[in-house]
Amino acid sequence: MPTGIPFAATPVLDSACLIKRMDAQRTLRRQISCVGIGLHSGNKVQLSLKPAPAGFGIRFRRTDLGGHEIPATVQHLAGIQLATGLARNEVSVETVEHLLAALVSMNIDNVLIELNSPEVPIMDGSASPFIYLINEAGVKTLQVPRTYLKIVRPIAISRGDKRIALYPSDHFKVTYSISYDHPLLRHQSRTLRITEETFVEDIAPARTFTFLKDVEMLRQNGLALGGSLENAIVLGETGVLNNALRFEDEFVRHKILDAVGDLALVGYPVIGHLVAHRAGHALHTEFAAKILEETHSWRLVEASSDALPAAAASRAAEPRLAN
Ligand SMILES: [Zn+2]
Repeated sequence: MPTGIPFAATPVLDSACLIKRMDAQRTLRRQISCVGIGLHSGNKVQLSLKPAPAGFGIRFRRTDLGGHEIPATVQHLAGIQLATGLARNEVSVETVEHLLAALVSMNIDNVLIELNSPEVPIMDGSASPFIYLINEAGVKTLQVPRTYLKIVRPIAISRGDKRIALYPSDHFKVTYSISYDHPLLRHQSRTLRITEETFVEDIAPARTFTFLKDVEMLRQNGLALGGSLENAIVLGETGVLNNALRFEDEFVRHKILDAVGDLALVGYPVIGHLVAHRAGHALHTEFAAKILEETHSWRLVEASSDALPAAAASRAAEPRLAN
């Protein structure tokens, strides 16, 4: 250690020890691939997840279009009607939210996602197949601390009766409530602290859902061509067309899944309490963009807990990136 510099102000002090105390960035241990179909196009698509270095973030690459990369951030948002899409230089990827939710909940900070088609495969309509892929690939810890976005003042937006907000909290947790004018799906609400374990057990298996009356309209518009009872819960007028639900409140759990995936577009794991009512992709992603604008409402920190010495914590809390 250089002399004359106070211990607490030394930028490189016992970095290995500090990273152990903080959370280190993670990537995959090896590449992994799968094949599925796009929900809207019905086309077969190959998905590959590849390890990436610290600071790379989550990026998509269209291998069928010369390998243009599209970072998974709000700056590249495009097309948010039925699912969340990203675009850059007129190259797009769609239906990114379930895969993003799986990656961020498994604390994968850096990964290159290759697709040979515009849509992430829908798999079974949930995030569980992506969790399986991540587990098969294995996780590699990188010797660089992870940066979190910690909410210090509330941020909120509402559109009619749709609302979404983030409040300060020591952990990332989500409260979601939905209500529909449908006899089988009136009101559901759930609050959950999101960790690797709770996401894998309670949220990842929850499938996307749609109403039978909407399916015909979607098909006439050339959408949901790959949709089936294999990859979505379909609500008819008198019941669920699928044989069984995975959870009694699978619907609201899936909304939490979507919100976690859309919030990933902030580009940092968020420490705060997300509260949403009747929101959807459009509001989730508008909110993700608003978070980055509200720079007085958050700080960037390198520790997810308060276990750090005060000096290290305050140094880590200095925002390092301009927005
Ligand atoms: Zn979804």
